[in-house]
Amino acid sequence: MSERPSPAEVAVVLGGSHTGMLAARALAGLADRVVVVERDVLPAGPEPRKGLPQSRHVHLLWSGGVLAMEELLPGIGEALRAAGARRAPVTTDMVALSPRGWFRRWPESHHIVLAGRDLLDATVRSSVLADERIELRDGTEVLGLLGDAGAVTGVRLRGRDGHESTLEAGLVVDATGRGSAAPRWLAALGLPAPVRREVDSGLAYASRLHLAPEPARDGFPVVNVQADPRADGPGRAGVLLPIENGRWLVTLSGTRGGEPGSSDDDFERFAHEELRHPVIGELLARAEPLSGVSFTRTTANRRHYYERMPSWPENFTVLGDALAAYNPVYGHGLAVGAQSALILRETVRRHRWGAAGLARRIQKAVARPVGAAWDLAIGQDVFYPGATETGPTLRDRLVAGYVDRLMHTATGNGRIARRVTDVTSLERRAEVLLSPSVLLAAAVGPLKPRLTGPPLTAEEMKNAGLS
Ligand SMILES: Cc1cc2nc3c(=O)[nH]c(=O)nc-3n(C[C@H](O)[C@H](O)[C@H](O)COP(=O)(O)OP(=O)(O)OC[C@H]3O[C@@H](n4cnc5c(N)ncnc54)[C@H](O)[C@@H]3O)c2cc1C
Repeated sequence: MSERPSPAEVAVVLGGSHTGMLAARALAGLADRVVVVERDVLPAGPEPRKGLPQSRHVHLLWSGGVLAMEELLPGIGEALRAAGARRAPVTTDMVALSPRGWFRRWPESHHIVLAGRDLLDATVRSSVLADERIELRDGTEVLGLLGDAGAVTGVRLRGRDGHESTLEAGLVVDATGRGSAAPRWLAALGLPAPVRREVDSGLAYASRLHLAPEPARDGFPVVNVQADPRADGPGRAGVLLPIENGRWLVTLSGTRGGEPGSSDDDFERFAHEELRHPVIGELLARAEPLSGVSFTRTTANRRHYYERMPSWPENFTVLGDALAAYNPVYGHGLAVGAQSALILRETVRRHRWGAAGLARRIQKAVARPVGAAWDLAIGQDVFYPGATETGPTLRDRLVAGYVDRLMHTATGNGRIARRVTDVTSLERRAEVLLSPSVLLAAAVGPLKPRLTGPPLTAEEMKNAGLS
């Protein structure tokens, strides 16, 4: 018997970032061999790299994603904590100004993981690659697909030395991110272009790393000043994320016409003067900048509806940002990537490796978490000037009116705050917000009075040098 599995038993995952690594893990044991192909040479630890420029910006990882990651990689939460990440209960460790006022710090409903993106990726990567069934081919670029419109049979690659080769496979998973060439690759096989939708609020992101004041290096809450999509004009937001090694990563953002600048002076001014509350600027005045400002405009919501294509080749599936990328301000890309990888495993297990129509089933199944995050992002972004050609529809306005009422209620009703975070954490679908008891609570409104300022405790204020 041959030691190498036949190509039909090999899975190839394109892209060795968050979704790619989790997809590889999902397929280990289902395929005889899993090969991850990544253009960058992946660093041994939490280092930045060319193919992941977004790692300089705040990355919230919501519990809906962490739960999926735990299913795929039992113990990953603990590994992240051991590496320096913190598990922050929501909304307990969150000081957040919603469009309708400050949230109270209610007892834990869900959680987020606080860490730099490079640390998140390095931890996942080392857990995944510890599995001998998974092979990494880094420094290798994917050039296209092998096969025809009926079935993909592998990929064309180019190594570091420029040498081109092919790799045959029984399943090819595209996780090459926002820049995925899948539409072009499919066209080369003779398939039509997928339906594609883009909603672009014109959001610009500016981020800077700081060292927190010494007493505030441990256990400081996330501080989040959100934009109000329904106010006139551009939305401006800021988030301060306490990450490993006592640092505060701060991202400021603004939609078309309200963008933050990319210079150091602009950064501080924007935090102080342009956000709906100056608390982030006040905190930064007492922190020490550790980097310059990183700037990006790669923030449009963009979705490919591959699941709706009239025909779909066997053995090929698209996941993660390659399938749909969201306005990062909602912090959902990582969670959807993880949930999609878990769905990949479940779908292959249920229908069996090599079953006819498997790839199409996977594509349809992952449309579910993608749709959930998409609707949350689009529901708000359509209100920003220029985001769509036609502006919000009547339905958009009705839904937004209800969400606005819910946010208002959540500022003074812990049960409704929990329901809202059920959805924003991607642990539950938005339908939970339509139950009779939630509708009733929304009609009644907040049970506690409005907070007049950020709910930082006296100790947190002192530690941060604000009192
Ligand atoms: C500014 C910004 C802030 C964000 N903030 C958040 C947040 O707070 N929370 C959150 O959940 N999400 C956030 N996101 C989204 C998050 O970064 C993505 O959802 C996530 O990285 C998607 O992972 P992925 O593996 O699908 O794609 P990526 O992480 O983009 O990885 C794609 C990989 O494919 C490789 N690759 C590309 N082309 C090829 C090729 N031809 N051959 C071989 N390899 C290739 C790349 O090198 C890369 O490693 C943010 C995004 C941006 C831009």
